[in-house]
Amino acid sequence: MSRIYFIDVTNRDGVQTANLGLSKLEKTMINMYLNEMGVFQSEFGFPATRHESFYLQANLELADMGALQPMRLEGWIRAIVDDVEKAFKLVPNIKHLNLSISTSDQMIQGKFLGKKSQEDIVSMMADAAEAARAHGAESIGVNAEDASRTEIDFLIRFGLAAKEHGAQRLRYCDTLGYDNPFTIYESVKALAENIGIPIELHCHGDLGLAVANSLAGAKGAIDGGQDAYINTTVNGIGERAGNADLVATVLAVTKSKGFAEKYRLKKPIDLTKAWKVSRFASYAFGVPIPMNQPGVGANAFAHSSGIHADGVLKDPENYELYSFDEIGRGEPEFVETGSEICSGEYSGISGFRHIMGQMEVSFDNATQAEEILELARYANVASQRPLVEDELLFIAKYPKIAKKLLTLIPE
Ligand SMILES: [Zn+2]
Repeated sequence: MSRIYFIDVTNRDGVQTANLGLSKLEKTMINMYLNEMGVFQSEFGFPATRHESFYLQANLELADMGALQPMRLEGWIRAIVDDVEKAFKLVPNIKHLNLSISTSDQMIQGKFLGKKSQEDIVSMMADAAEAARAHGAESIGVNAEDASRTEIDFLIRFGLAAKEHGAQRLRYCDTLGYDNPFTIYESVKALAENIGIPIELHCHGDLGLAVANSLAGAKGAIDGGQDAYINTTVNGIGERAGNADLVATVLAVTKSKGFAEKYRLKKPIDLTKAWKVSRFASYAFGVPIPMNQPGVGANAFAHSSGIHADGVLKDPENYELYSFDEIGRGEPEFVETGSEICSGEYSGISGFRHIMGQMEVSFDNATQAEEILELARYANVASQRPLVEDELLFIAKYPKIAKKLLTLIPE
């Protein structure tokens, strides 16, 4: 029986969103949290973009050290040979790639302005896939951008060519959030049946359907005999109205009426980490979690009206579909209301020792404390907000990796 996998794309789609971004340390923390949750793969960045190089290499080193295992780290590039060459030049040990190219007539005409035909698109993609294969890529996914506005016969032809040239997966990108659950089901089922490789669902929320479409698309892939790989982002942060939210999509797959009886995850996702990852992403992006966000919103387990409150007091299952502790909620949170020492780009050693001491981190000697403080200062320069405990602990535990993450050298 085919299964469902999760590929989180916060560190690609999330960070390319207008008005938003993450520092390289923040991206790394997101990868660490996703790995803890049991997410199959993180689309961790842009290997053909120079300022990503040290970050991507550092994260691959964390994986080699076993600190970021077993999650796969995969990079996103355009499906052109030039990007493949650049990716392997800048990040030689990259192992997993997704190659993206537009497939709809709208985009082929509207972006290439009549200079490219459908056949040109297929051959560009095929050449890029072959180049990735020649460089020893262990897995290649091919992304059909604007798949939902692409005629199905061409998508099948495109997918078959991708398979022939070494792609293990086809990403069905509902780039504009145009699909509905009924159309995406039919399209994806046809692709799975006719191409015979696993299908990725990449859904956007322009019509408020990203999670529903992800579920319907996954059903289509599995009914068509193939594994489904759902793309998500933490808190749904992504281009325009955003992507399918990680927590909401996992909840929908595992808790919606009857779905999980037939359509199962390859391996469980630990939602008790949901609260932590959502809160961190909210803080790092500077985007509050909406009050009515599934699972992690302030109101997700709040009741005030008489009938609801009475019902929950008698039995939470009267008005709660799942319990707060499944999402990692329920622990009281400590908020400092008096004097506070926090990290900053101009912090000194005394305040820093105080902060680290509160987390029971001690240093072997003054030189080591100064070294970690210096890295924390640089991390603050990049994030422009006080670092959270996990970031400080990460820097103290992996100073060499942190140094690499904080290194940006323009050409
Ligand atoms: Zn997208």
